[in-house]
Amino acid sequence: PVNIDIPAFIAKVADEDMEGAYAVLSASSALPAVCGRVCPQENQCEGKCVRGIKTESVGIGRLERFVADYHNTHGHQGGAPVVPESNGHKVAVVGSGPAGLTCAGDLARKGYDVTVFEALHQVGGVLVYGIPEFRLPKAIVAKEVARLEHFGVKIMTDTVVGRTITVDELMDEMGFEAVFIGSGAGLPMFMHIPGENLCGVYSANEFLTRINLMKAYKDGSDTPIMPLAGKKVAVVGGGNVAMDAARCSKRLGADVYIVYRRGMEELPARHEEVEHAEEEGIIFKTLTNPVKINGNENGYVASMTCVEMELGEPDASGRRRPIEKVGSDFDLPVDCVIMSLGTTPNPLIKNTTPGLEVNRKGGIVVNEEGLTSHASVYAGGDAVTGAATVILAMGAGKLGAKSIDEQLSKK
Ligand code: FAD
Repeated sequence: PVNIDIPAFIAKVADEDMEGAYAVLSASSALPAVCGRVCPQENQCEGKCVRGIKTESVGIGRLERFVADYHNTHGHQGGAPVVPESNGHKVAVVGSGPAGLTCAGDLARKGYDVTVFEALHQVGGVLVYGIPEFRLPKAIVAKEVARLEHFGVKIMTDTVVGRTITVDELMDEMGFEAVFIGSGAGLPMFMHIPGENLCGVYSANEFLTRINLMKAYKDGSDTPIMPLAGKKVAVVGGGNVAMDAARCSKRLGADVYIVYRRGMEELPARHEEVEHAEEEGIIFKTLTNPVKINGNENGYVASMTCVEMELGEPDASGRRRPIEKVGSDFDLPVDCVIMSLGTTPNPLIKNTTPGLEVNRKGGIVVNEEGLTSHASVYAGGDAVTGAATVILAMGAGKLGAKSIDEQLSKK
C-alpha cells in the first residue's frame, strides 16, 4: 500500500548494508519499525511473495522490523533538525494516527509548513492508545514521531477539531490552505442486548485506552479499571482488537474467554494473534453468542447468558452465516464483559463541517485523490474506510499528501 521497493530493500539486507536497506524502506514508509511489528504481512507483501507459491514466503515483515530496529540502535540518530526549505504553504492535519503522520511527514519533506492537531495528549493514534505495549513498544512510536518532528512537523495535542476549533476555522482564520482529516474510527459498537449498561461492561477501545494510554494498571491511576486479578472476563468478538483486550486482561490476572459467534476458522484476527492468545491460555468459546448480561444486587456483571450457534450457508460477506441453536441457552459466570465488535468514525467532525459528505456507516466520502466533498479538505485512513489496518491508513495518508501537493503547488 505504500509502494516500498521490496526487492531493493531485501537485496541491501543480503549485502549486509542495513543502513542502505533502511534508506529504501524510509523512502516510502514513515513508520517501518511499526509496520514490521503489526502489519498483516501474510496478506500483503508476504502474500505476494513468489517463493510462497512453492514453499514459504520470505519473512519480509521480520526483515523490515530488524532493519528499522538496527537503524534505531546503530544508525545516525538525527542531530540537528533537517528542515527542508519552506515552500510557503500551510497545511493542517487532523489526527496523529498512521494516516495523519504519514501525510504530515510526506508534506513536510516537500517543504510544507504542517501542523498536526491531535485530540489526545499523546501522539500516535491507535498505535499508542489501542495496540498494547507487548505488541508495539511505545518508545518505538515516539522515535518515529521524533523523526517527523525533525522534518519540521508541528504537533498540537489536546486539540479536538470540531470542538476546540473547526475545520472551517482552521482554513478561514488560521490560514491553512488545505486540511487532511485522519481522525480514525474511534466510536465503539455495542450489541444492544439487555445488561450492557451494568458496571463491568467496557468497550474494547475504552478498556485498552485506559490500560495503554492512561496506565490504569498502576495504583492511583486517574482512570482505573476494575481489579481483574482472579476474576473472569469475557471478550466478545474475534478480531485483533479482541485478542489485544483478552491478552491485556490475562496480564491483569483474569481468566479470559473469547466469545465469538462463528468458528475458529472464521476468526477475523491474524492467525499469529490467535496463536499467541492460545499460548497464553485464553479460552476460545466459539460458535457462542451472548444474548443478555446479568447483574448482581450491586449492579455489577455476574454472568452472561449465551446461546450456541451453528454455521449455515455463506452470507453476503462470503462467510458462513451463524444460526442460533434453539434451546441452547446457558449462563457463563463472568465479572467483566469487553465488547469488541468493531468501531465507526466519530460524527463530531462531520457535524461541525458543513458540506462534508459521509456514507451510511459514517465514513467520510472521498474521490480517488482523497478529496472530500468540501473544497481543499482531504481525508484518509479509518475515518474514510472504517476500522482497517495501519498500512492502509498510511497509504491513504500518502495519497492525501500527493493530492494536496498537486493542488497547492499549482498556486
Ligand atoms: P487512528 O490510528 O485511529 O488515529 C486517529 C487519531 O485522530 C487519534 O489519535 C484520535 O485521537 C485523533 N482524533 C480523532 N478525532 C479527532 C478530532 N476531532 N480532533 C483531533 N484529533 C482527533 N492494524 C494493523 O495493521 N495491525 C494490527 O495489529 C492492528 N491492531 C489493532 C489493535 C487495536 C486495539 C486497534 C483499535 C486497531 C488495530 N489495528 C491494527 C487497526 C489500526 O490501528 C488502524 O486501522 C489505524 O491505526 C488507523 O489509522 P488512522 O490514522 O486512520 O486512525
